[in-house]
Amino acid sequence: MKKTSYRVLIVEDHQEMLQVLSKFLSERGFEIDEADSGEVALKKINSTKPDLVLLDVMLPGISGIEVTKKIRSNGKIKEYIPILMLTAKSEIRDVITGLEVGADDYIIKPFSFDELIARVNSALRFKQLSDNLTTQSKELENANQEIYQLNQTLVENNKELRKKVYDLRNIFDISLELHAILDVDRLINSTLLSLIGKFSCKSAVFMYGLKKMEQRLSVLNSKGLYKTDVENLTIEKSDSLISYLHKNKSPQLITRLPKYVQKSLGVKALTNINMELISPITTVRNQEDALICLGPRVNEKPYQKAELEILLTINNIVSIALSNASLHDEVIELSYTDGMTDLHNYRYFEMRLKEEILRHTRNKQGVSLIILDVDHFKNYNDTLGHQAGDEVLRQLALILKDTVRENDIVARYGGEEFAVILPSVSKDGVIILAERIRSHVADAVFNDEHVQPLGKLTISVGTASLPLDASTSTDLIYKADTALYAAKHAGRNCVRQYSPELTASE
Ligand code: GH3
Ligand code: MG
Ligand code: MG
Repeated sequence: MKKTSYRVLIVEDHQEMLQVLSKFLSERGFEIDEADSGEVALKKINSTKPDLVLLDVMLPGISGIEVTKKIRSNGKIKEYIPILMLTAKSEIRDVITGLEVGADDYIIKPFSFDELIARVNSALRFKQLSDNLTTQSKELENANQEIYQLNQTLVENNKELRKKVYDLRNIFDISLELHAILDVDRLINSTLLSLIGKFSCKSAVFMYGLKKMEQRLSVLNSKGLYKTDVENLTIEKSDSLISYLHKNKSPQLITRLPKYVQKSLGVKALTNINMELISPITTVRNQEDALICLGPRVNEKPYQKAELEILLTINNIVSIALSNASLHDEVIELSYTDGMTDLHNYRYFEMRLKEEILRHTRNKQGVSLIILDVDHFKNYNDTLGHQAGDEVLRQLALILKDTVRENDIVARYGGEEFAVILPSVSKDGVIILAERIRSHVADAVFNDEHVQPLGKLTISVGTASLPLDASTSTDLIYKADTALYAAKHAGRNCVRQYSPELTASE
């Protein structure tokens, strides 16, 4: 900034000269300080802070050269003060030394006032320039400092952003993978593997319990733990941990849980197997309670806040995927179930029969098929009504389920026809089960069964077996049907096994 008035320190031992210079410059608007020796000048320079020093070279005591040196080496003087030397022609050598030690210009006595004022102004312009430069350089330095700090922050932010992008990509990949899985068991398995990979933890557990049907959560899958440690691990739904998680639906570090929750049996069971983090899964339909628990990390580092947030996001993805998968399971279940009897339906029967025949081609252990049909069912319906008929079909379904072995597959084959697939059972074995089913039905008590032509409600049964009677599913069904037809023909309430003669004679 340009000053309105400049301060000049005149250093001159010659009184007359001092007064002339003083008068001349003050008339031109300068503020004047005077010194008649180098010593006085050096003292004044600190207090008056002149914009320019007009310095006689020849002084009593310390010389103008010395004064110049001292001014230039004085660290306390922050701004640049131009020094204009006044010198006689004979002192021209001193002028060179003066310029070398830091004086800016010189003027040789005697001088004209025009020359003096021109030199003074030129020196002051130089000072102004130098002051501006100093200010700008300071400003630059400050700006530089700010830029440096901003840059540091940017580098930090960038690092964090990169990490976030990496995490998001990771979560996105996990999400893609999980959403593609519609099988609940496979979904849970994949979830645990993804979490172990993502958080580098040593162990992980998935606990699950259907809301309505189960009193407790049990372990559906675990990683990094002994089977014996988790197979009997359960958490009661009444446990304070579960009610706490119903209210706090985000991942929780065990060490941060309230004391009363930490004391619960649930938390104790989990700390026994070294779990550190518990994360509730809230499924969309909210029909089940589920928890994901994670054990310590491989590098022993505690879980960070950012990681808990990531886990929450993953949990939300798992929740949706789990809801989809269990819905899918239910739909599949429904699409394979007969609504009235709760048995498998024809679609399921067809699928399983093909599977079992394929299995036979590998293990050669045979497959047998039983088809049975209610005798004179039209009569029962016509006499007692359709609803009574439906009740009989339901009762038959229960008898069938109770009679067959665990591996056998019972299905409602058609209106009043049922089928049983017997995996790994050949011709010798099937007759025993077929006869048992027939007799159980004949012995069972049905409402008003005396209306039937045989005096009771009965079934006729046909059987056929692989590999003896057929080689394909269509053929096996056809042969069992043929045997059933033969049983009807033989008077009903009996079992017939397929044999080639049946086709010929009946
Ligand atoms: P047969 O001993 O030769 O098998 O005589 P049937 O009367 O059982 O045979 P038919 O094929 O003439 O009649 C089958 C009857 O089964 C016809 C129908 O009223 C009854 N039926 C089929 N599906 C259902 C059902 O879902 N509910 C009820 N109540 N009746 C059914
Ligand atoms: Mg029929
Ligand atoms: Mg019938």
